[in-house]
Amino acid sequence: MDELFILATPLQQACPRLRFVLDRHRPATVAPGSLTPYSSPVRCVYLDLDGTLLGPGGSLLRGADGRFALDGVRALQACARADVEVVLYSGRRQSSVFDASRIIGSSSYTFELGCGLVVDGKLEWLTDGIVPSSSEGTIFDQLERSGAPAFLLERYVGRLEYHTPWSIGREVSHLFRGDVDTVDVHEALAGAGYGWLRLVDNGVVRAPSEQMAGLPVTRAYHLIPAGASKARAVARHMQARGYAASDCIAVGDSREDLDVSSVVGAFWLVGNALTDDPGLGAEVAGRPGVRIASESYGAGVYEAVVTTLATER
Ligand SMILES: [Mg+2]
Repeated sequence: MDELFILATPLQQACPRLRFVLDRHRPATVAPGSLTPYSSPVRCVYLDLDGTLLGPGGSLLRGADGRFALDGVRALQACARADVEVVLYSGRRQSSVFDASRIIGSSSYTFELGCGLVVDGKLEWLTDGIVPSSSEGTIFDQLERSGAPAFLLERYVGRLEYHTPWSIGREVSHLFRGDVDTVDVHEALAGAGYGWLRLVDNGVVRAPSEQMAGLPVTRAYHLIPAGASKARAVARHMQARGYAASDCIAVGDSREDLDVSSVVGAFWLVGNALTDDPGLGAEVAGRPGVRIASESYGAGVYEAVVTTLATER
């Protein structure tokens, strides 16, 4: 009998609708003696997609070892049985997050790093007036016309390139990969009159660089309107639903995800976040309410959800 079994059994007894499908993970991080009768500890879980709920290759059904895994699905099942809303928050384009949300049965999601939020089918832009229009075109078009993407590619040649093929056909952010100092980038953007934009580090990617050799790590970067963020979009969804911070947790794997810790009661980094990007450890220090899962990808989400559901409200 492992600790997860010890965790899940009283949960199931206290809340008959909460029936865990047990498997053999390493133990979740709540001590068995701390268990109390189930009392709906949270109302909403915000989940990042790539590198978090989705395993290698962007698959919901692949674990850290690349083999078939149901952990992410079991995390969603635990949420459904406890009446906990699941909201995807992702850097992907709207159509992709819409499809993913539909597949998992969620009615709200945020896309393009919080530039857009959809609640029960209603879209709200969180880009401070930089919105699509028939006269101005898409947000992507407006950023392109500003010259900012070309400015960055020229300034950081050899360290930044478009993240093909995912950078093609976008409607909001310009998507790059590479390895740059975002503090330096923002100083450069402001100095060139682009202070209304920011370059967001959305985590380590495994896609091979086309033009850049020798980078120690390759990250995905989105160029978006400066006021947009995942944290802002999560907070807006919480406001729309009437959730308090203590009603919500979030799980993610990137620096941008980590900023969501400022608006939710608890934030979990999946284990692979630190494996892929050891520098994140320093970012976690000093942030209250941030926990690190021992498991990676969907198994880390499962660990975060089960641990949270086992904790007294
Ligand atoms: Mg991610």
